[in-house]
Amino acid sequence: MKIKALKGFKDIVPGEVLLWQYLERVARDVFDRFHFREIRLPILEETELFARSIGEATDIVEKEMYTFVDKQVTMRPEATASMVRAYIEHGLYVEKPVQRLFTIGPMFRHERPQKGRLRQFHQMDVEVLGSENPRVDVELIAMGAMLLDELGMQVSLELNSLGCPACRPGYRAELISYIDKRHDLLCSDCKRRSTTNPLRVLDCKVPSCREQIVDAPSILEYLCDQCKDHFGKVQAGLEQLGVPYRLNKFMVRGLDYYCRTTFEFITADLGSQAAVAAGGRYDGLVEILGGPKNSPGIGFAIGMERLVLLLQQQQAVIPEDEVDLYIAGIGEQGSRKGFELANAMRARKFSVAMDHEGRSLKSQMKQANKAGARFVFIIGDAELESGKGILRNMLGNEEQQEVLLSAAALADALPESLVS
Ligand code: ATP
Ligand code: MG
Repeated sequence: MKIKALKGFKDIVPGEVLLWQYLERVARDVFDRFHFREIRLPILEETELFARSIGEATDIVEKEMYTFVDKQVTMRPEATASMVRAYIEHGLYVEKPVQRLFTIGPMFRHERPQKGRLRQFHQMDVEVLGSENPRVDVELIAMGAMLLDELGMQVSLELNSLGCPACRPGYRAELISYIDKRHDLLCSDCKRRSTTNPLRVLDCKVPSCREQIVDAPSILEYLCDQCKDHFGKVQAGLEQLGVPYRLNKFMVRGLDYYCRTTFEFITADLGSQAAVAAGGRYDGLVEILGGPKNSPGIGFAIGMERLVLLLQQQQAVIPEDEVDLYIAGIGEQGSRKGFELANAMRARKFSVAMDHEGRSLKSQMKQANKAGARFVFIIGDAELESGKGILRNMLGNEEQQEVLLSAAALADALPESLVS
């Protein structure tokens, strides 16, 4: 009986890993340009961390978390809560008043697996802690836009403000009275949400609920003066930097900790898995988790599976497998010499492949091509006799030269640009 991976859990096989590495490389480069530093966080946290930050009446906490019931621990469904926990635990605000952090890794949510929706999925998560300046919002959004643009993604940016504890309750009351009048026409989830988390009704995906909310009041009309001013500056900043966006008054985000600026980068190419990245401001979260008062924060998470799907759909030029040198040893003595040279060349920082199965030269040349070898070094009986192997340049015109059977000579004969 074969044992398979769990439903919604997926291996990323070597051919596909190249895409993931490419994605990470581009992202790390962009994060670095914006002066973000990496932090690595644990996968298992106390359940309470997520219940308190994400909120009890959210899809994630209500039904999507992998929780060990006997231990009160949960596999992280997202990274922001852990990031903020670590920020508080290590007093990172003392070291630097404004922290710019990113982390990359797997998240776990028990949802119905579909294309672009898994139970173990991966996010690149970016957060700025310690500033409520709207420029930080703009800079962060601009960074997301720059990254997606450098990856060649066709996405649009949707923007909203969720107000703050001063102005949201007024809006919430208006929304509840609007929803109450349509209560019978809503799906069962929304009927329940209408009292526990009425804002969530606004982003219900059920078509009949969508019909009911088209004329719902907009939070943007209820913002207090400070929130209005903040949001105005975010919009002006995006215009200044030339980052196009569209206001979406129904974008509420499914997590309780959000306030003020919220945004999503949306694609039209992944069906209902439209959001490739999403985030927003969470000015009260640090305090809720026991950290200092008045510690604002903002961040977003990029869904890596969805980006990989888009890269595949675009047939983006994917970096191929490659190796600097393939050593083709022919016969027992030839491969014995090749074996030793391979190790010595690897110590000299060249990537080297070779065959240990005693295959023919022809079959080894095929393997060298498959491995994307730039050079092949051939060692047969004649070469052992003369003390010189044949180095073939696989790029361009396949020119050949004789090279002494020593790592030093071989390294000299290879272009310096190969040394990693
Ligand atoms: P969705 O509305 O698609 O469920 P979400 O609002 O739950 O997304 P967030 O919690 O904001 O998503 O996570 C940020 C990003 O992580 C999403 O925009 C998406 O790209 C990705 N993501 C979230 N859940 C999954 C999942 N189960 N599988 C793959 N990617 C996911
Ligand atoms: Mg979700």
